[in-house]
Amino acid sequence: MHPPQIDLDAKYVVQTYARQPMVLARGEGVWVWDTDGKRFQDWVAGIAVDVLGHSHPKWVAAIREQAGRLVHTSNLYHNEHQAVLAREIVGITGLDRVFFANSGTEANEAAIKIARRWAKAYHSDAKHKLITFVNSFHGRTYGGMSATGQEKYQKPFTPLVPGFVHVPADDWAALDSAADEDVCAIMVETIQGEGGVRPIPAETMRALRRLCDERNILLIVDEVQCGIGRTGKWMAYEHSGVLPDIVPLAKGLGGGFPIGACVVRGDAATCLKVGEHGSTFAGGPLACKAGLATLEIIREEAILENAEVVGTHLQEGLRNVGESTGCLSELRGMGLMLGLVLDRPIAKQVLTHCRENGLLINAPSDTLIRIVPPLVITKEEVDWALPILEAAIRASS
Ligand SMILES: *Cc1c(COP(=O)(O)O)cnc(C)c1O
Repeated sequence: MHPPQIDLDAKYVVQTYARQPMVLARGEGVWVWDTDGKRFQDWVAGIAVDVLGHSHPKWVAAIREQAGRLVHTSNLYHNEHQAVLAREIVGITGLDRVFFANSGTEANEAAIKIARRWAKAYHSDAKHKLITFVNSFHGRTYGGMSATGQEKYQKPFTPLVPGFVHVPADDWAALDSAADEDVCAIMVETIQGEGGVRPIPAETMRALRRLCDERNILLIVDEVQCGIGRTGKWMAYEHSGVLPDIVPLAKGLGGGFPIGACVVRGDAATCLKVGEHGSTFAGGPLACKAGLATLEIIREEAILENAEVVGTHLQEGLRNVGESTGCLSELRGMGLMLGLVLDRPIAKQVLTHCRENGLLINAPSDTLIRIVPPLVITKEEVDWALPILEAAIRASS
C-alpha cells in the first residue's frame, strides 16, 4: 500500500518539497498513473510544462532516436539541432536571437546579465537597476530570487543581489518614479503564475513598452510559464501587441524535457561577447531535439487553437461550478492558465478530495486553485473532471 519511495524520500532527499503522498509512474495524454495503478487526470502538467500531455508518441520517438545518436557534446562544438531550434524560437517570438539555458531561472539569469551588459556597453555602469513587480516570480537562483517580488522566497537567503526594485503592478506612479536613468530593465510576467495567476492588463503592457522606449530601458517579459501556447497564442504578450526586448522561456518549451531559452532583440541580442556567458549543458542535441519536436507537434496538431477553444470551455465549466457551489469569488487567467479564487480557505481540502477521486490540481494558497492542464486536453476530458472538482468543493465547504 505505502510505496517505499516515500520513506526513502523522507530519509535521503533534502526536504524542500511539500509533496502529495503518491508516487507517479506512468503517463499518457492528460492521464497519469501511480505505482498502485490508480489513474488521475492531470490538471497540473508538471506545473505548466507538459504542453503535449504525457508520452506523446511523436515526441517520445524523437528523443528516443536522438538519445541513440548523440546526447551531449558541450558548446565547444555546433550540434545538429541548436541553431535550428533557435530559428524556430525566433519565429514564434518575433525577436532576433536565442541564448540557451536549462531552466526558467537560468533563462532569467541570462536576461538579467544581458540587461546589465547592454547598459554597460551602450550607456553607463550606473545604469544597473532592474524594476520588477510585487508578487512576481522569476526563479530560485540568486538573480531570479532577487528579481522575485515575494519576500517568502527571499527572507531565508539575504543578502540578495543588489539593484532590484519591486513596485506594485497596479501602481503606475510608483513605477514612473522608480524608472529613473539608472534603470536598465523592467521585468514582468504577462500573467503572474506563482503569484496567483494574475494577468497584467494589456493596456499596462503597452504603457510599459512606451515607458521603456522613452527612457532607454529594456522590457523583459518573463514568459517561462505563460508562453508556448498556454494562453492560446505562442506568447502571452501577443494579446497586447507588445514586442519585448528580452523573453525568457522554459517550462513548456521542451514538452517536459528540461530546456530554457533567453530570447533577445536589437542591441540586446549582440551585447554579449564570446566567453561572457555560457552553460555546459545548455542547447544540447537532446534538449533541442525535444524542443523542435514540441514546437512541430504544437503546429501540426493545432494545439494553440485547442488551448483557446478548450480553455473557453473550461472557463465556462468553472464558472458553472462556482455558481452551483456558491464558493467562487473570481476566475482569473487566459486560455489554459487559470486561477480559481475561492471565497473561503478550502483549497487544500479541495485538492485532497480531487486527488482521492482521480483529479490532480494545484493549490498555491488556501484560497487559490491553479489549473494548467496539458494543452492537448479535450472538452470531453474537461467534462469528465469538472464534476469531481464540484463534488470536492461541496465536500470541503
Ligand atoms: C517557473 C518559473 C520560473 C522558474 O523556472 P525554473 O525552471 O523552476 O527555474 C521563472 N519564471 C516564471 C514566470 C516561472 O513561472
